[in-house]
Amino acid sequence: MRQKRFILQENEIPTHWYNIQADMPNKPLPPLNPATHKPLDADDLSHIFNKECSKQELDIEHAWIEIPEEVREKYTYYRSTPLVRAYAFEEALGTSAHIYFKNESTNPLGSHKINSAIPQCYYCKQEGDTNVTTETGAGQWGAALSYAAKLYGLEAAVYQVKISMQQKPYRSAIMRTFGATVEGSPSMSTRAGKDIITRDPNHPGSLGTAISEAIELATTTPNCKYTLGSVLNHVALHQTVIGLEAEKQMEMAGEYPDTVIACFGGGSNFGGIAFPFMRHNIKDGKRTEFIAAEPESCPKLTRGKFEYDFGDEAGYTPLLPMFTLGHDFKPANIHAGGLRYHGAGMIISQLIRDNYMHGVDIPQLESFEASMIFARAEGIIPAPESGHAIAAAIREAKKATEEGKEKVILFCLSGHGLIDMTAYESYINGDLQNYSITDSEIEKNLEDVPQFDINEIEK
Ligand SMILES: *Cc1c(COP(=O)(O)O)cnc(C)c1O
Repeated sequence: MRQKRFILQENEIPTHWYNIQADMPNKPLPPLNPATHKPLDADDLSHIFNKECSKQELDIEHAWIEIPEEVREKYTYYRSTPLVRAYAFEEALGTSAHIYFKNESTNPLGSHKINSAIPQCYYCKQEGDTNVTTETGAGQWGAALSYAAKLYGLEAAVYQVKISMQQKPYRSAIMRTFGATVEGSPSMSTRAGKDIITRDPNHPGSLGTAISEAIELATTTPNCKYTLGSVLNHVALHQTVIGLEAEKQMEMAGEYPDTVIACFGGGSNFGGIAFPFMRHNIKDGKRTEFIAAEPESCPKLTRGKFEYDFGDEAGYTPLLPMFTLGHDFKPANIHAGGLRYHGAGMIISQLIRDNYMHGVDIPQLESFEASMIFARAEGIIPAPESGHAIAAAIREAKKATEEGKEKVILFCLSGHGLIDMTAYESYINGDLQNYSITDSEIEKNLEDVPQFDINEIEK
């Protein structure tokens, strides 16, 4: 019988994360202090983040960073995750491509986010912190962080994007079940939140507003650290367990991917699955294509500008060198809440500049159409975010079929959509629409980005 799922034993779970920064020919530009415009060091970052993650963030030397044994032990609760050959999906598409997916939806929290929540809370506990805070969009990161905080006896306070809270009420219930407190953002509980509400009383919230509020809480509460579920280098680092496992599992399947695809919010599941394979492009001359699938309504990778910009709406974070639509960009209310972020990570942004990868824009309806085909074939209802990766995989599979090629496609199924059924219901009822955005809207929004001469900084 042909093999469908490829599984690693617990003792084959990776012992080290892969830090692509060490192997990149051009390193990411440094994050800058917004007041002095000087490059930040790990000490600056550790006012907000725990020390170990601050160090990992700026580490451009060590390609392999050991996963603490206590973290590996927690990984065994749900890892390895299956690599699956999508035979039924291939059949439904009538494609000549071989399609594999790495299924990060199998843990009870429902997405890949737990892979970074565990080590972040572990390091906070080690360093004597008692509280953690964060933002969450769709609620996946908040759910993962709430559980990880509980594992290590930390108190968690989560700011959830208001519109997502309304769209996905069960996610706040999940966070509360794990013992976290949850506030809709913008809220009246922080200065940043109050300012935003004063300017725009009907602000639906964004990851940017929620980050501002969480950072404010972290910097005004003793022994409280801010944690981030995406965008930053150390988050993508933790997520490389995905790609490192997938590398071994593809070997079990006797294939190597021609194309690796993931959906893109801030880049953590993309980096997680892509970087371990990309190291072979950088070091061994492999020619795998890497595709990040972003929503058409939030097209920072394909239509954003490479600039120093803030990671949050209020401008509390360091200035980050990245492809951005402007830190106060208000994305349309698409159901893929986790992809509604204005910028890309620093590593990803440099990799795009150096042509190691590229983005594609997926309209909301195309992503749901793709998810429906996938669900009906494989029996898994994907997260609306993951639907973007599936849509991009379908585009690539069609190309392969037209060219009569047996292309090997690997994509990351970043989460399941079982708590997103209102979104599916709207799609099935014909109530969803596409949102596109004009060049002049993008240009207008970029006017507020601090102006720097990138060439000057690169010298
Ligand atoms: C958060 C989330 C994303 C987007 O975040 P990345 O950091 O870009 O991976 C994608 N899929 C799911 C299921 C998510 O929860």
